[in-house]
Amino acid sequence: MELSMDDHQKTARATAAALADTLLLPDAARLDREERFPTAALKALGSAGLLGVNIAPQYGGLGAGVTGYVLAVNELAQRCGATTVAMMVTNMVAEAIEKYGDASQRQQFLPALRNGDWPAYGFSLSEPGSGSDAASLKTTAQRTDGGYILNGVKSWVTSGGHCGVYLVMAATDSDLKARGISAFLVTPDTPGFTVTKPEEKLGLRGSATTQLVFEECFIPAEQRLGEEGIGFRIAMNSLDGGRVGVSAQACGIAQAALNVGIDWLAQRRESPYAAQWTRLIAESQAELDGAWLLCTKAAYLKDEGRPLTREAASSKLFCTEAANRICGRMLEILGPDGCDERYLVERLVRDVRVTRIYEGTSEVQRIVIAREVLRGFASGGR
Ligand SMILES: Cc1cc2nc3c(=O)[nH]c(=O)nc-3n(C[C@H](O)[C@H](O)[C@H](O)COP(=O)(O)OP(=O)(O)OC[C@H]3O[C@@H](n4cnc5c(N)ncnc54)[C@H](O)[C@@H]3O)c2cc1C
Repeated sequence: MELSMDDHQKTARATAAALADTLLLPDAARLDREERFPTAALKALGSAGLLGVNIAPQYGGLGAGVTGYVLAVNELAQRCGATTVAMMVTNMVAEAIEKYGDASQRQQFLPALRNGDWPAYGFSLSEPGSGSDAASLKTTAQRTDGGYILNGVKSWVTSGGHCGVYLVMAATDSDLKARGISAFLVTPDTPGFTVTKPEEKLGLRGSATTQLVFEECFIPAEQRLGEEGIGFRIAMNSLDGGRVGVSAQACGIAQAALNVGIDWLAQRRESPYAAQWTRLIAESQAELDGAWLLCTKAAYLKDEGRPLTREAASSKLFCTEAANRICGRMLEILGPDGCDERYLVERLVRDVRVTRIYEGTSEVQRIVIAREVLRGFASGGR
């Protein structure tokens, strides 16, 4: 595995760090307080190619691969987790369009991100009754002349109400379960399609999270992504990559918290608690080093086109659990000041919590890892 960065990866990281410092950091606390969606910052990220880090330059992407992507996500997440999650989901949808879309879909949706036409794209798999058990989704797509009629409710859609397109999974044949799910590209102007009011969340409050409602909503056949029946495969493939992104986001948030803790200790070396704080910081740094290695290993596997289901799940489980522990320890070091919004840790503790939930909870990652390990064992390999 290559540990040094190539020129594309260096560019992705440096561009993200520069924009994160100038655009994200100054506004992050206000976005959180006012629950305001970062439209302008996201469009600026798009113009710099950061909404398509792993997309080919011919479609307006940076062509920096998955490793370039995790480097960029890590930098952004250190400054604003909410803007970062919108950036991550947009990258995930763009990758699905590049991989499974036809020439006209790629041309319609990919350069638009670089042109600043839209701040974000949305991914819509979860429903009020299904998320972990995604194959049991209830939204239907019934075949009709020239397309499909969608009916149903989707939930927890990141950037809902701000997207140029939503990648929506719906059942074209409910009897076939996972093999009866298809993927659709739904634009916001579609009759019969509405977006609800954003949820009031614990963290990542600047990222709008909404439901999508489909009522007799006609989607032309040209807006189906990939063949009929491969929607679940598209979703699972996207989530393998998405879990690497969440790992990088968690590491970025943890790094920001650790920086606060280190600064706190540096200014209070004479404190009677300095030895205890030093131990907590050392423990956290070691965990973060390990987490980042798992994240970059999974990114490397995806760059190489190799299977990564187990590694992506291991990375997400370890990185997000470690990041939550690290943020919690830094809050402990700051004591009551850790609960004060003037100190960054208060927001980071709230923002990092959901990394253990979305793109599959920690419990679901354990199930995925165990399934992959047992499958390898049954076939005689490890
Ligand atoms: C802020 C936010 C943003 C999100 N963004 C998106 C998005 O953009 N697009 C999208 O499609 N979804 C999104 N989600 C949804 C998210 O991916 C799901 O909520 C998550 O995968 C959990 O699924 P669930 O809602 O069905 O929870 P549940 O499955 O109901 O989870 C409840 C509890 O049950 C546990 N559990 C579930 N199944 C098992 C099992 N088999 N064994 C043991 N324990 C189990 C879980 O670990 C959890 O502790 C978002 C969620 C949040 C909170």
